Amino acid sequence: MTAKVFDLAVVGSGVVGLAHAYMAARTGKRVAVIERDIRPNGASIRNFGFITVTGQERGEIWRLARRTRDVWAEVAPNAGIGIEQNGLYLIARSDEAIAVLEAFLGTEMGDGCRLLEPDAFRKLANGLGGPDLKGVLFSPHELRVESRTAISGLASWLRDRLGVSFFPETVALDASPPRLRTSRGTIEAGAVIICPGDDFTTLYPERIAPYRLKRCRLSMLKLADPGYRIPGTLMSDLSLTRYRGYSALPEARALEEKLRRALPSAFAHGVHLIAAQGADGGLIVGDSHHYDALPPPFAPAEAERDILDEYARATGRVGPEVVERWTGVYAVADDRSYLVDAPEPNVRIVIVTSGTGASTGFGIGEKVIGELLGEKVKP
Ligand SMILES: Cc1cc2nc3c(=O)[nH]c(=O)nc-3n(C[C@H](O)[C@H](O)[C@H](O)COP(=O)(O)OP(=O)(O)OC[C@H]3O[C@@H](n4cnc5c(N)ncnc54)[C@H](O)[C@@H]3O)c2cc1C
Repeated sequence: MTAKVFDLAVVGSGVVGLAHAYMAARTGKRVAVIERDIRPNGASIRNFGFITVTGQERGEIWRLARRTRDVWAEVAPNAGIGIEQNGLYLIARSDEAIAVLEAFLGTEMGDGCRLLEPDAFRKLANGLGGPDLKGVLFSPHELRVESRTAISGLASWLRDRLGVSFFPETVALDASPPRLRTSRGTIEAGAVIICPGDDFTTLYPERIAPYRLKRCRLSMLKLADPGYRIPGTLMSDLSLTRYRGYSALPEARALEEKLRRALPSAFAHGVHLIAAQGADGGLIVGDSHHYDALPPPFAPAEAERDILDEYARATGRVGPEVVERWTGVYAVADDRSYLVDAPEPNVRIVIVTSGTGASTGFGIGEKVIGELLGEKVKP
């Protein structure tokens, strides 16, 4: 590799790395992105592409998610990325779940959201909803992109329209600005941002270790086109016990106790429901959560059954045939939703530790770039 000179080198071309590259490139900085693989193959292409605002942790994370959603809405059409769905419908099947939703709507996080009566939901959702449907939270804020194509689309657009240079199949080995040593030679860059996903050991392992990060493995399914459209991305009662914007509300305790008793296997596998529909009609449905320092690759079939059972309970329909299965892994911390560490004055490590990188990445990137490069990044 011949010596290249950049203002910023970003390590990692997952959604978090690309978000930082975008925020720097839009201010005219010369940006390089270094990626170990021939193309990103990690969490960022395995997720639902669900840009979630409603349900995100109250306070900073919720605000970062709103900002990130706005940036996706602006970037996606420019980059040729389709918005496959708008809005969230959270299907509630118990009085306890309705109590959580009513409490949620009473907070600032309920802005723009409303509770739909069962019949109103059935009417707009082709009759979906089981016999025990009590109500549905509608949130207009969410967007959904097809991550398996959106991430490469975003990268191509950054390269072609904003002049970002990409270095695939290149491992970043040592970051000491103005030099970044890689497996293919040295890149000169005034600053380096490391967005390594769940690689905690290649760069600055001694800085990452004190955060005591673990990994979470998720099971995901693609189901065949069911022959009906779902009106937006679906979630269910179980989601109210996992997403901190709801689960931190006092009303969520009674719901969780009830669901733990009724669905022990779902809790053992950390299962809740997200069901999103793509342009081809197929449904991306998940997910389970297994936590470990290094989760084994052996995903239990029971978790898959629990996901499909929750789909059937929430929609009142048996899910169609499974056409794809995969797992994905992301970084987690017990005590924070993301971390920004500064091992050197011109180096930052950025890791989203809550499984929300597609929903918070642009907001975090804007903040980190503003602080590191002294740029006021204007929308
Ligand atoms: C199944 C699943 C579903 C999810 N659903 C959602 C969702 O719907 N909405 C949402 O907001 N979030 C979701 N998430 C979480 C979200 O996908 C992650 O938070 C996000 O993708 C993390 O992005 P990242 O760029 O940090 O990591 P990654 O996507 O893992 O990318 C990191 C990249 O860095 C590269 N890399 C690491 N070290 C080096 C090095 N030294 N040199 C060169 N390259 C390096 C890796 O090869 C990799 O490509 C989900 C995650 C999973 C697994």
